[in-house]
Amino acid sequence: MRTVNAIAATSATDPLVRTTIERRDLGARDVLIEIRYAGICHSDIHTVRSEWGPVTYPLAVGHEIVGRIAEVGADVSRHAVGDRVGVGCMVNSCRECEPCRDGQEQYCLGGATMTYGGVDRDGSVTQGGYSTHVVVDEDFVLRVPESIPYEAAAPLLCAGITTYSPLRHWKAGPGSKVAVVGLGGLGHMAVKIAAALGAEVTVLSQTLNKKDDGLAFGAKHYYATSDRDTFKTLRNSFDLIINTVSASIPMGSYLRLLRLDGTFVSVGAPPDPLEVPAFALIGARRSFAGSNIGGIAETQEMLDFCAEQGIAPEVEVIGADAVNEAYERVLSSDVRYRFVIDVDTLR
Ligand SMILES: [Zn+2]
Ligand SMILES: [Zn+2]
Repeated sequence: MRTVNAIAATSATDPLVRTTIERRDLGARDVLIEIRYAGICHSDIHTVRSEWGPVTYPLAVGHEIVGRIAEVGADVSRHAVGDRVGVGCMVNSCRECEPCRDGQEQYCLGGATMTYGGVDRDGSVTQGGYSTHVVVDEDFVLRVPESIPYEAAAPLLCAGITTYSPLRHWKAGPGSKVAVVGLGGLGHMAVKIAAALGAEVTVLSQTLNKKDDGLAFGAKHYYATSDRDTFKTLRNSFDLIINTVSASIPMGSYLRLLRLDGTFVSVGAPPDPLEVPAFALIGARRSFAGSNIGGIAETQEMLDFCAEQGIAPEVEVIGADAVNEAYERVLSSDVRYRFVIDVDTLR
């Protein structure tokens, strides 16, 4: 075991504190990563506050991790010491079920092992990226192209792949019209990626406050959902709607924005069930769907695509001691567009 510095939650209600956590000894197929940056995802906050279920404390969260490989196990073949790499939302899976064999480990029938708060195959509780080092099986480690700015690479590992995967699955591209609901951490990446794929992108946001940003990220149109005319004007407009909002929304109004055969995909996770009026689906053979991150191969494809296209998240870099304050700002949507912890401040 190796003891490393971290910031962790000790209960559902207390602020995160500086502490130490244990990392396992390097197995034959493990790599040791010296972490440089860790993104702050809304899921981190839900998790440490036990809002998504019981949690074993102390817990270090963080599943948007980038750094360099410091050591490799004896049988590691995909990565080498010095490589710039990333780790996203999962660190293991059964590798035997159909989704796993198909490269869709996030849908592992045995349950993928989440990067933090999960129970790993050896029975230990996984600890996330708000720490100086992490030990991960090489198969769940991504190559991060050098052309992506270091600090901006981190949020690609969750926000990037969460939006890239449904855009690819539902074939966003030249000739398709995509709407993105919400312009936050996920939404701003959905806009950049959809635009880079060649789709015509519209942002649906509560207000027009971030309109200039949205257009700069590649959107062609920007509408306020607080304006009731928006839902009349845009009726039957989109092939695909990516919903990044984690609050209840009037589903009937949103579904009717889809044209024939259009799909509404939720990547946000509202705590309460959404009410879907059947007639809004039946009226134009519309679909209502969900999507969860992406597989390891697809995550690599996304990183290479972003490098090629020169796109990256907009980030605000903070020190380790600013994390609690950053959480409050995430909850009040006061971040443009993702906080990233400079892990050097933890050493
Ligand atoms: Zn996340
Ligand atoms: Zn599996």
